[in-house]
Amino acid sequence: DQVALKTALLSVSDKAGVVDLARALNDRGVRLLSTGGTHKAIAAAGLPVTDVSEITGFPEIMDGRVKTLHPNVHGGLLSIRDDAEHQAAMAEHGIEAIDLAVINLYPFEEVRAAGGDYPTTVENIDIGGPAMIRASAKNHAYVTVLTDPSDYDGLLAVLGENDGATPYAYRQRMAAKAFARTAAYDSIISNWMAEALSIDTPDYRALGGKLREKMRYGENPHQSAGFYVNGDPRPGVANAELLQGKQLSYNNINDTDAAYELVAEFLPENGPACAIIKHANPCGVATGATLVEAYGRALACDSVSAFGGIIALNQTLDAATAEEIVKLFTEVIIAPDVTPEAAAIIATKKNLRLLKAPGLPDARAAGLTAKTVSGGLLVQSRDNVVVEDLELKVVTKRAPTASELEDMKFAFKIAKHVKSNAVIYAKDGQTAGIGAGQMSRVDSARIAAMKAEDAAKSMGLKDPLTRGSAVASEAFYPFADGLLAAIAAGATAVIQPGGSMRDQDVIDAADEHGVAMVFTGIRHFRH
Ligand code: 5GP
Repeated sequence: DQVALKTALLSVSDKAGVVDLARALNDRGVRLLSTGGTHKAIAAAGLPVTDVSEITGFPEIMDGRVKTLHPNVHGGLLSIRDDAEHQAAMAEHGIEAIDLAVINLYPFEEVRAAGGDYPTTVENIDIGGPAMIRASAKNHAYVTVLTDPSDYDGLLAVLGENDGATPYAYRQRMAAKAFARTAAYDSIISNWMAEALSIDTPDYRALGGKLREKMRYGENPHQSAGFYVNGDPRPGVANAELLQGKQLSYNNINDTDAAYELVAEFLPENGPACAIIKHANPCGVATGATLVEAYGRALACDSVSAFGGIIALNQTLDAATAEEIVKLFTEVIIAPDVTPEAAAIIATKKNLRLLKAPGLPDARAAGLTAKTVSGGLLVQSRDNVVVEDLELKVVTKRAPTASELEDMKFAFKIAKHVKSNAVIYAKDGQTAGIGAGQMSRVDSARIAAMKAEDAAKSMGLKDPLTRGSAVASEAFYPFADGLLAAIAAGATAVIQPGGSMRDQDVIDAADEHGVAMVFTGIRHFRH
């Protein structure tokens, strides 16, 4: 299963390490073939190298769009070495076997991330490279393919151990990696194009991305993990800059994403807002006259759970807020910007991860989300409905007051980001209690009320903040019981999708207690 390397084709956009590799291969007596720019770099180092156009008898044409797409190249990569007919075809057409392909692709991801214009981005779709990678990977019975400069040293070690040959198992592994690369490359192109055309359905948008980093472990230490990015330049955790602190863990990235997407519901021009997240659910969200006030009000909702949490801010992290944040153990802070003074204060906590995102995500933006299920991926368009765009229908005798209406909208925004069943009490732009992830809506309502009582105690308040609050339910109340639990906790206004068979029972219960209720017509399940 060993194949001695006699001929190598090198064609790389990222030239890192390629000259050293070429030199080591040349020292082993391997004949080198190469394309334009790569050829130039290798020749400039004084190494013997043959231009692919000599093999094809064809010049590179159309600005490099066609350089290796030729039977002499693909025949050399794809031929079965011990098949008589293949050998006869090679002899007849003067095709030379190629044993090693070293290829990396046009930097499509980088061009996309840099916001290249449409024609520039299109021009950076590599055609010949993936064709050669796939040909070599398919023919791994004979051909070795490298697609990542970090594998060059490994190849040289393998050659050293095997007298200038590669073993089958090694070629197999490199082929598997090569297919991962071309699959990611095409999915990134597909994502970009669907986005450019504002098409947002799974048949137009392949999911996937390029492995950016491997994590030490996944959700638990016995699970492996990696972060794949698709080059989407829109603000979010994938393109935030880590200003300080350790590498983000799998859970950090998951929770930070939840935190930032939630706080992005609050546009900076409407004032400061803060969300504190634990295990992808908010444990406190608030607006404030200042950012530090918003943080304090978010923290007050559940300061116990906030320990070791993720803090997301919708405005520049300032010194006053940083001063308060460092008083408590926090895992991650994410904000659209950070003042130098605030950065200096955070720097006193070496392990605290500080992320600066290139702006706030757009809550209305299209996109796809996915989760794996046994045997496949479940894909759906992003939940990009925002409460401001909804027509709220008053269904009770009493209409909500202006301030109740504000609290309702605030609570419903948050309900969108809480695992179902979600019940959120809110008052004056502050969560009073959050009930998340229960199998029964009544339990979620009770838990939220209990959290509100705890919060009132820790704030030294006589009454819990649920007294006179608005309550949001992310899905309809199937029975009046969930609503009655909220009323018992002191809610005077209710926002919910409506649409239950028993809507009338629920409306009657609200009317009986003089509670104002609106239907949104939209639900925010999050399972
Ligand atoms: P070089 O810098 O050597 O001129 O070009 C190397 C790049 O060209 C590599 O990224 C490789 O994948 C790509 N490439 C090789 N052959 C072809 C081809 O026939 N068409 C296109 N579009 N790209 C190619």
